[in-house]
Amino acid sequence: MVNGTRASDSIAGGVSSSAAVVIIGGGVIGASIAYHLALNGVRDVIVLDRAAAPGAGSTGKATGGYRAQFATAINVRLSLLARAKLIGFREETGVDPGYQPVGYLWLAADNRQLELLRESQRMQHAEGLSEAVELSLDDIADVNPAISLDRVAGAAFCSTDGYIRPLEILRGYIEAAARLGVRFVWNEEVISAALTQSGCLKQISTAKATYSADHYVNAAGAWAATVASFAEVALPVVPLRRQAALSVPTNVLPASMPMTIFMEDNFHMRIRDGRVLLCWPTPEPAGTPSSLRADQLWIDEVTAKGHERAPVLRNVEIDRAMCYAGLYEMSPDDHAIIGRSVECENLWLANGSSGHGVMHSPAIGHILSDLIFGRTPPVDVTQLRPSRFAEGAAIVSSELI
Ligand SMILES: Cc1cc2nc3c(=O)[nH]c(=O)nc-3n(C[C@H](O)[C@H](O)[C@H](O)COP(=O)(O)OP(=O)(O)OC[C@H]3O[C@@H](n4cnc5c(N)ncnc54)[C@H](O)[C@@H]3O)c2cc1C
Repeated sequence: MVNGTRASDSIAGGVSSSAAVVIIGGGVIGASIAYHLALNGVRDVIVLDRAAAPGAGSTGKATGGYRAQFATAINVRLSLLARAKLIGFREETGVDPGYQPVGYLWLAADNRQLELLRESQRMQHAEGLSEAVELSLDDIADVNPAISLDRVAGAAFCSTDGYIRPLEILRGYIEAAARLGVRFVWNEEVISAALTQSGCLKQISTAKATYSADHYVNAAGAWAATVASFAEVALPVVPLRRQAALSVPTNVLPASMPMTIFMEDNFHMRIRDGRVLLCWPTPEPAGTPSSLRADQLWIDEVTAKGHERAPVLRNVEIDRAMCYAGLYEMSPDDHAIIGRSVECENLWLANGSSGHGVMHSPAIGHILSDLIFGRTPPVDVTQLRPSRFAEGAAIVSSELI
């Protein structure tokens, strides 16, 4: 259960505040949880973030893809709940989340990949995603005429997948939560915690203050394992560097081009704000150090892939100064970790979305707030429980990206 409003006191050595819920991390996941708690009447919520302003974590780096075409039912369900909430987002928060259903086009290079798409599509249909379809080569040429079909065996397409605006979703949740009374505290990094004898969190500390609460939420994205370690919880979330290359402004491809993904190496491309955006996840292990030289080589390689797969791009320069990298928050099975920590009863985890956190944030905020309230959430996330790795129940899937 969640209790009512608390106070702040000045004590020797800093300020002490208490709240019903303290959330560590004011990215899109933390903000969504804060908003959904407040919507349900728990307005005594504090969100702590070490950054000076919203969007400094992974949310500000996300390229803005939304899809329900996943290989596991649980991810399809999260996406469908999220989509329903994205459609109602403007009415709910006053901010346009930029949902643009231009589709996701998955291109298989051979029959094995095509079979994987078909297998996923059977499950997607069973989950209600009836608009996901298989495309012939002729259909592909209609949906994205710019693509070279030289090494394409077939495709899957879903017209309700598409794009969203990560920073607008973050803004919408922060503004709506703040209107309901949630306090966002920027420039405060959680650096330690004190535990009770039974291993619950008693308080957490920043350099400026201490905070105590009935419930604490770890929403620290790629840095969630460090935050969990303050509560002596071993959380298997690791940061994984992901890069994006942007072209100079161009109109060689239409803004309505679907997100186009080549399954053979997960190279994908879209148009964003009048530029072509190219991504190619190199198979580097987590924590691989980057260097300027390696980054320049990556840009060369991803550009060459773009030229090969969409020949019209041969005349479009890459804007090297606009290329950037950010961090995915990977879990061992590439699925989110949602629920109460086993080791620390009053710590809730909303972590490890593994590169899908923005698109799933409306669903995760709703679900975690229900779990904290002791309500049954609209999607059963038992499969995503934090204890699944220790139980040998990690999710097995053919997820390729
Ligand atoms: C290149 C790239 C492309 C992506 N594309 C997509 C996409 O198309 N679609 C999609 O859904 N997702 C995408 N993602 C993934 C998405 O960005 C993340 O899944 C999502 O932003 C996670 O949200 P979050 O709130 O958990 O993390 P974050 O936005 O990182 O927020 C975590 C916050 O915690 C704060 N914090 C950390 N440690 C502490 C501490 N000790 N004390 C206080 N505050 C702390 C940070 O400052 C940060 O603001 C992409 C990611 C990258 C890098």
